[in-house]
Amino acid sequence: MTTKILITGACGQIGTELVAALRAKHGWKNVIASDIYPATDEMQACGTYIKLDVLNKKKLAYTVTQLGIGEIYHLAAVLSAKGEQNPTGAWDLNMQGLLNVLEVAKEKKVKKIFWPSSIAVFGPDSMPAVCFQNAKADPLTVYGISKMAGEYWCRYYQRNYGLDVRSLRYPGLISYSAPGGGGTTDYAVDIFHAAMESGSYTCFLKENTGLPMLYMADAIRATLELMEAPKANLSVETSYNIAGMSFTPGELAQAIRVHVPGLEVAYSPDKRQRRKLADYDQ
Ligand code: NAD
Repeated sequence: MTTKILITGACGQIGTELVAALRAKHGWKNVIASDIYPATDEMQACGTYIKLDVLNKKKLAYTVTQLGIGEIYHLAAVLSAKGEQNPTGAWDLNMQGLLNVLEVAKEKKVKKIFWPSSIAVFGPDSMPAVCFQNAKADPLTVYGISKMAGEYWCRYYQRNYGLDVRSLRYPGLISYSAPGGGGTTDYAVDIFHAAMESGSYTCFLKENTGLPMLYMADAIRATLELMEAPKANLSVETSYNIAGMSFTPGELAQAIRVHVPGLEVAYSPDKRQRRKLADYDQ
């Protein structure tokens, strides 16, 4: 029987592209998108969409049973910069949402789960210049703390309940289909739109703040490949590092000017820089 797949937080930056990729691969009937928003005609146009709050464990369990879900991609979360505006709220969603998914998956015998972690688990003591797979976790934000704790919860459910949970530590993801969801690397998405719309952009980070980034298409490919890999080939029970390239806002602006010569960029670092999220976080 074909596996039915549920995606939580499907309307966000990653979900928008991951749902399309999964539907292309597994067929639109087998991929159910969900988010906290009520369904619209547009959301229903390419496949099934349901309104689902991941904090509503009962409804999550009901959905998994009713739709015969065999795989969950759990994307619903608050990202780094937004999380700092409401740390306890971010903790509630990021932790309880994950625990609900893990518990329901255990109870309903869901075959596989994907849950993204982040480079935000790393910090000043993690050797940020070359951050190895087993570098020391040193999260500075509530978002990073929730990702670090989440990684260990995932390992706990694998070891104690035999759940097949897979994870990648994404860096900042660059895409054009949906806006960034409130991370410290969102500038690298926004600047392209600003370049096309107004020809000018005010960056919330300093010109020389380097951060690790990955193009969305590469992140999606890595996610699909990780989920398809034979279980026996996997050795990391927490989350796999994945890298693309690092650059600064100044370098990105220069690269865009090759195509949009008049692009003007001002730098007005805000809390995301001042709290030093940007020095080690995404
Ligand atoms: P996003 O903010 O764009 O999307 C998150 C989605 O979750 C939103 O559509 C939101 O409506 C939904 N949501 C919020 N509360 C919910 C709830 N209670 N129930 C159901 N849905 C809810 O985020 P994203 O960039 O798509 O990130 C998805 C995942 O990937 C997150 O776990 C994030 O931490 C992780 N990640 C993202 C990046 C990145 O650069 N985008 C980097 C590292 C890790």
